[in-house]
Amino acid sequence: MDDKIRELLKTLPKIDEVILVLEKDNAFEGVSRDIVVEKCRQIVKEMRKTILNSGKGGGKISGTFSADRAAQEVRKRLLALHDYSLRRVVNATGIILHTNLGRAPLCGDALKRIIDVSEGYSNLEFNLDEGKRGLRYDHVREILCCVSGAEDAIIVNNNAAAVLLALNTLSEGKEAIVSRGELIEIGGAFRIPEVMEKSGAILREVGTTNRTHFSDYENAVCNDTGLILKVHTSNFKVLGFTDEIGLDKLVELGKKKNIPVMNDLGSGCFVPLDKYGFEGEPTVQEVLKTGADVVTFSGDKLLGGPQAGIILGKKTTLDKIKKNPLNRALRIDKLTLAALEATMMHYLDLDRAVDDVRVLRSLTEPVADVEKRARRLLALLEKLSLKDLTFSIMEEYSMAGGGSLPTQEIPTVVLAVTSRSISPSRLERRLRKLEVPIIARIFEDKILLDLRTITEEEFVFIKDGMRRIAGLS
Ligand SMILES: *Cc1c(COP(=O)(O)O)cnc(C)c1O
Repeated sequence: MDDKIRELLKTLPKIDEVILVLEKDNAFEGVSRDIVVEKCRQIVKEMRKTILNSGKGGGKISGTFSADRAAQEVRKRLLALHDYSLRRVVNATGIILHTNLGRAPLCGDALKRIIDVSEGYSNLEFNLDEGKRGLRYDHVREILCCVSGAEDAIIVNNNAAAVLLALNTLSEGKEAIVSRGELIEIGGAFRIPEVMEKSGAILREVGTTNRTHFSDYENAVCNDTGLILKVHTSNFKVLGFTDEIGLDKLVELGKKKNIPVMNDLGSGCFVPLDKYGFEGEPTVQEVLKTGADVVTFSGDKLLGGPQAGIILGKKTTLDKIKKNPLNRALRIDKLTLAALEATMMHYLDLDRAVDDVRVLRSLTEPVADVEKRARRLLALLEKLSLKDLTFSIMEEYSMAGGGSLPTQEIPTVVLAVTSRSISPSRLERRLRKLEVPIIARIFEDKILLDLRTITEEEFVFIKDGMRRIAGLS
């Protein structure tokens, strides 16, 4: 170690000195002493590392390492602890079910139910008629069965959990037959073959990537078969020379051989979307009509509710799933149940659900209405006369996202923003760093804000954000 480094190390402040500085200007307010002391230790340790690194040629050192400087850094980090990390953002990407942006926004009444149910105690597992212990799923079972036509329902933490639980219950130590064309990865490290392995089911692949025949399934059935599984390919499509076996045929086979049949739908939608130009998505009701034993899907994809895994199907099969001890580890919480119950109520009238549930509204809104909203936003921003920013309207395409309707482009209208003084990538970053972040995409030299995923109520965040970026506030 050279002398210069040794000298620098000697200038490092003592923890007590840093604390003394902090005490003088009340930095302790709202944070307990232990946390402050720990932060001081951390900062001094980092300073020491910086000095030692510079000795090894790792970066130059600027200024001195005073107690004041350390205190300033501690103060900054203490303040940051009071900032909420998980926050509201404006989804201007046009991806309706954006998994990184929290997927489905909740309806107003779902939010109200969350507050009502969780402000005090609730009857989460208490049967008010009998004054006895009840089951948590019972709060949404009736409405789910009523809307879907299922015999019974179980709700768990998310669809990944639903798939794991159902596979473990029905096929642990036994073979689960699945087509090679359906061995998918959803993203976020959810791969069907890996989940199957963790569930204890033995994967029995049949067919090929693009073609699987009925005889492939038929030939695979043996004494060790526990389950026939069909998986919605969600985020991709195989086009061209393809063949897959419909669920109805698999149910027939299952019945003949006395093997349960499960369909992981992924998204799961109650509203027929073909009316709105989306092809090839059977509704949950249609899927259940085939007689499948178990059907699973997410609460926060096309259903438009909170994160949840919904398991529908035959009572005898679901009774087995209910008894699985894993169920306890994957159980749903009361906030989610409250929101799910409120969301499901919109589906009692399917025609109204399309208007009331935001993801369905975004998906089915006529492009002419999106354009009207874009023009209103344009007028609002032009009125601000922000010299540095220019705005225009363009036609583009939105996407469903969340592994739903993968190849179907949805015509939309976007607001294009350009700045005279900063590059598109810097503009994108500045939008992202606003108090209410606006998440947008870059296209050539422009930033695009897709109006399909932006509501009129969110205009205020865009207006304030643009003013701030233009330096007016
Ligand atoms: C999205 C998806 C899942 C996972 O659902 P989560 O609710 O995200 O856990 C599982 N299977 C399929 C086919 C999916 O599309």
